[in-house]
Parts: sequence; structure tokens; C-alpha cells
Amino acid sequence: MVQRLTLRRRLSYNTRSNKRRIVRTPGGRLVYQYVKKNPTVPRCGQCKEKLHGITPSRPSERPRMSKRLKTVSRTYGGVLCHCCLRERIVRAFLIEEQKIVKALKTQREALVKPVKKVVEKKKPVKPVAKKTAGKTAGKPGAKVAGKKPASKGAIKPRNTIRVPFETPRLAEIAYRVLSVDQEPRRNFVQKTLSLEGDVLVVNFQADQVKSLRTAITSFFEGLLLCQDTIKQFGDPQEDKVIAEGQDNAGTQSGSDSA
Ligand SMILES: [Zn+2]
Repeated sequence: MVQRLTLRRRLSYNTRSNKRRIVRTPGGRLVYQYVKKNPTVPRCGQCKEKLHGITPSRPSERPRMSKRLKTVSRTYGGVLCHCCLRERIVRAFLIEEQKIVKALKTQREALVKPVKKVVEKKKPVKPVAKKTAGKTAGKPGAKVAGKKPASKGAIKPRNTIRVPFETPRLAEIAYRVLSVDQEPRRNFVQKTLSLEGDVLVVNFQADQVKSLRTAITSFFEGLLLCQDTIKQFGDPQEDKVIAEGQDNAGTQSGSDSA
């Protein structure tokens, strides 16, 4: 005779969340065993492919799981698959490049129209440079003098930046700080720093306009940092004078080390 089975919970409808299996216990009885819904793995937001490296789970389990089980440590990890992410990165990069090319093209056309004879490559005009340099020493009138390619090579883009400082001493500090970091070799950019009294002169020479732009941008980043530091701690020499003047107070000496 077939054994009759009783439900073990109060829910008596045959719903999706009330699925059961019949199981024989060690004592030989037949009982219902409740079956959970299938856990799932998230899918790529773009191609709907299943994502790798993620543990299948039910939504109710997720708050209890550690992050390591629910995502992949990558940008858009757990959201996009690696193929789609790669595609997006490449696309974004190409769009940016296209913008640069477009800008250069319009620039060149603008230069070509008024003057009929123009050398093929032009050094990039840096409107940013003036603004940044003006801030640098708190002194207006920083000059960015772009030089035309000289006889040698003729195509290599180059640029010269002149940054005036309030005192030769400040210029020297900036010179010493900035001459430490060399251009990475892969950039194919040559950067030479020199001092002319209270003016810091920087010469850039690059194989490509693109790398020249990168080099100049990173140079200004360094310059701004340097300027901020000077602002914060002041001229070390001035500090020393103050410290000597207030030797008894002895409060200033701390900042000397900066
Ligand atoms: Zn995908």
C-alpha cells in the first residue's frame, strides 16, 4: 500500500516556492523534502552572456555573502563581461583620439587659410599654459613662447615654456624640484630645464604632437604641486630668517624641515 505523505509546512498550495521531493528517511519512512529555487549567476549587461567568477545565489542569500563571491575586481566587474568592457574601452579611446585629430585639423586649417605657405607640422597651441603659469608665481604675464621647428629635423614638434617667479630663489627651488622627474622613456619626449634669473625655462621636444601634449600636461601638474608646496611652507630661506629672528620663541623651527 502506498504511504500517504503530509506537508511539513503550513503552505498547502502547489506554488513555485513550495516545491517538494519525496525522500526516504533512515528509519524507512517517506517524507517531503522542500526544494529551494534555482540560484542564478548575473549576466553581462550588454551581450547577456553569463558572467564568470561569480557564485550562483538567490537574492535573499546575497546580503549574507562576501563581496568577493558576488563580483570580479575590475571596472564594471560583475556588470559587463570582459569582451564588452574591452570593446567599450577601445571605443572610448578611439573617440578621444578622433577629437584630438579633429581639433588639430581645424587648427591647421585655420593656420593655412590666412597664410598660404605653412610648414606641415605645427607645435600645439597651449591656451591652458598661460592661465596655469600666471597662477604659478602669483605674478601675471607668464609667457608661453612656442618656437618654430628649427632646421634640424624640421618636423619634430617642440615647445618652450617660460615661467617667471617672484624671486630667483623661488625659481631655483622649482627648477631643482622639477628637474628630478625625468620624462619616461616610452614618451619619446626630451625635456630640458634651465634657469634665467627668476625665470624657469622649459624646452620640450617630441616625436609626436600627442606625446608633447602629454608631457606638457604632466609638467604643469608637477609645477602646480610645487607651487602649492611653496605657498604652504613658504620660501625655506625666508623661514630660516624668521626662525633666526625669533630664536627664543622656537616655534618656527618645525617648518624648516619642510
Ligand atoms: Zn558582454
